[in-house]
Amino acid sequence: MSNEQPTVPIRCEQCGTETRLPLDTVGDALDRHNETRHDGEQIATVDPAIREQVAELAAADLGLKEEP
Ligand SMILES: [Zn+2]
Repeated sequence: MSNEQPTVPIRCEQCGTETRLPLDTVGDALDRHNETRHDGEQIATVDPAIREQVAELAAADLGLKEEP
């Protein structure tokens, strides 16, 4: 197995920023950004074009980890 982490682009229109983050930290980073910068509003988001892909990756990841 490689150490390569899938990364996910996060976009915040209000801040005008786009960042790539490892899949396993992206949820926390999004929450923190929106909480600290935008009073908890969901401004920063995962690029909608790849959101589906991310969900699949996350599901596959969970599947592997939870395999008995
Ligand atoms: Zn922002």
